[in-house]
Amino acid sequence: MVNKNLQDSSLPQWPEAAQTLMALIHAQGEVARLTEREQLFSSLLVSVNAVLWAFDWENRQMLYVSPAYERIFGRSAGLLLADFNEWRDSIYPDDLEYAERSLAQVLEKGAVEDREYRIIDAEGQIRWLSDKCFINRNPEAGQRVIIVGIAEDITEKKHLENELQRLATTDVLTQSSNRRHFFECANREFDQARSQGSQMAFLLLDIDDFKVINDTYGHPAGDIVLQHIAESGRAALRRGDLFGRIGGEEFAAVFPGCAPDIARQVAERLQREIQRLSFEHEGQTFGITVSQGLSNLGDDDENLDSLFARADAAMYQAKREGKNRIVSG
Ligand code: GH3
Ligand code: MG
Ligand code: MG
Repeated sequence: MVNKNLQDSSLPQWPEAAQTLMALIHAQGEVARLTEREQLFSSLLVSVNAVLWAFDWENRQMLYVSPAYERIFGRSAGLLLADFNEWRDSIYPDDLEYAERSLAQVLEKGAVEDREYRIIDAEGQIRWLSDKCFINRNPEAGQRVIIVGIAEDITEKKHLENELQRLATTDVLTQSSNRRHFFECANREFDQARSQGSQMAFLLLDIDDFKVINDTYGHPAGDIVLQHIAESGRAALRRGDLFGRIGGEEFAAVFPGCAPDIARQVAERLQREIQRLSFEHEGQTFGITVSQGLSNLGDDDENLDSLFARADAAMYQAKREGKNRIVSG
């Protein structure tokens, strides 16, 4: 028997009802998909070690920061959204001017991707951020300039970079600049002295009879001597002077902006420091001496090599004259 209700004309006919039902199922699926996507985005924003942010340039107001902000900055996101000065307050003072200037550059450039600066986190620790920013081109934002950015915590990467840089530029035994790094810096100082018309001195130092030290007390004892010479060098020099180990038992120094008599005084101080050093090996004590060659930047010096060559010649003259002395070339 046929159900009368099904023939009621106020009810949709089967094909129409099926369509409505299908639309409903489709809409539910859409909602489920959107919810799923939202959840996916939320969990991405929570787990990624970077802060996504949006900033209203004219009103100087933070519009959005992702959850990582509180984790990385150790500050309340609510406070930042209420007052943009929170961001400024978190920046390491030396980097504040750069951080603000590089943010403003996005207005002309459209994107600033090489922006790195330091912040001080809740524990008072310094953290390095890579904070890329872009102008938001969304036309729906109307005339408002919205800057969006992604700030990534690169502290570990920075430490690793610094460590690599240190290893590449430092002599492992004495912790002084290695030859390559020393000459790189020395050439820079030379160019600067030339362009500014300032003075500059170059010093070479070679340990006297170091072979005898090695032969008598052993190579490890020789290594300790080298370490102490480097320490004396660092102690005797002034701020801004360069010092490096440029050979086995040869060290060099550059004194930027230094008059010849001052350079001589520094070399003499170093000579005395080294003469005072006392070493002990299996109950025997011994001391060491060094020979130093000094040269000063002259009008004819076109590059560092000629300055270096004169210091080298002066140092060999010191050796010839009986060692344990300073010769100016
Ligand atoms: P001079 O007074 O003429 O300078 O004589 P010297 O014996 O110091 O000079 P020479 O250049 O003949 O010998 C340098 C020695 O330095 C030879 C080498 O075994 C030693 N030496 C070079 N590098 C190292 C090092 O890293 N550790 C130690 N212990 N010795 C080194
Ligand atoms: Mg030598
Ligand atoms: Mg020597």
